[in-house]
Amino acid sequence: MKAIRLYGAEDARLDDIEEPRTGPGQVKIHVERTGVCGSDLALFQYAPVPNEYRHPLFGEEGPHVLGHEFAGTVVEVGDGVDSVRPGDLVAVRPNVWDGTCAACRRGEPNLCAEFGFVGINGGGGGYSEYVVVAEDQAHRLPNEIGADAAAMVESTTVAWHAMKVSGAGEGSTALVIGAGPIGLALLLCLRAQGARQVVVSEISESRRALAAELGADVIDPRETDPAEYARSVAEGGVDVSFDASGVGDVTLLPALNALRTGGTSVVVAQFHHPVPIDPNLFLTTEKRLVGSFAYTDEDFQEVVDAIVAGTIDPRPLISSVVPLENTVDGAIRHLLGTGRNTEVKVLLAP
Ligand SMILES: [Zn+2]
Repeated sequence: MKAIRLYGAEDARLDDIEEPRTGPGQVKIHVERTGVCGSDLALFQYAPVPNEYRHPLFGEEGPHVLGHEFAGTVVEVGDGVDSVRPGDLVAVRPNVWDGTCAACRRGEPNLCAEFGFVGINGGGGGYSEYVVVAEDQAHRLPNEIGADAAAMVESTTVAWHAMKVSGAGEGSTALVIGAGPIGLALLLCLRAQGARQVVVSEISESRRALAAELGADVIDPRETDPAEYARSVAEGGVDVSFDASGVGDVTLLPALNALRTGGTSVVVAQFHHPVPIDPNLFLTTEKRLVGSFAYTDEDFQEVVDAIVAGTIDPRPLISSVVPLENTVDGAIRHLLGTGRNTEVKVLLAP
């Protein structure tokens, strides 16, 4: 089968590799759609993990197949599998955990000491025609939902978990900095949860337009100070804020300054530089700055349920669908270049 594997920095190749075999308790999926994630772009640019390294839960050397945001049709199930059948549409929860460490025992498997992802650390990946995963990773959706929406479950769940971490709910006010796939998914999740007002700060005009269509109050941070604006629309500031851009102090500090006293700001983007923060900012305000990482199986099912119920429709975020053969130039290099400002979510079609 065809697969895109990462050999090193700036070196991803279209290979012909053996199809994975289905074992007991496993599900074989024909991949229909796979999202290209910002973390895939970072893996392509820096390839931070050497191919010789074996992740403890996968035990495989690289080069690994990329792609952790994927959905497709079940083609085969192993012994003991009863929750899905061949022909079912499934979205795959790609993260795995050991189930035994302190975090797992606390009920926070997303923070497992040995967390890993199919499509990053081994186990095949969505940048290929077939993937075999454990039954509990394959979440069924009605076939009429379609693979486009199903492939968006993963990135939407990153936002869903961040929203839960923030404590936002019915009537909340929010500031989202950055209208990329995660920022826009946050907007969808907050709206689905009954948030009263969501301000989205974004430089790109096309992404701002999409955020406005999806119900946000949009600002261009080059013209309007996000913190000042948030304090003007919500008395004393917003309840919650999210940095979904990871740019640096120019995004994280406004996210904190936009909060009301006791408000919560969530880091949901990867930063590439440290940001200096004055701890006194928290002393007299009881503001909180917290992180959000990945999601649990429960989060994943909640997003599947919201999409099936129609309270979340992530399809407007899909800006292009690219054939698997054209992944490196048509998706990865494109997104690292001019596509950065014109695309939102690019899906591959294996
Ligand atoms: Zn664990």
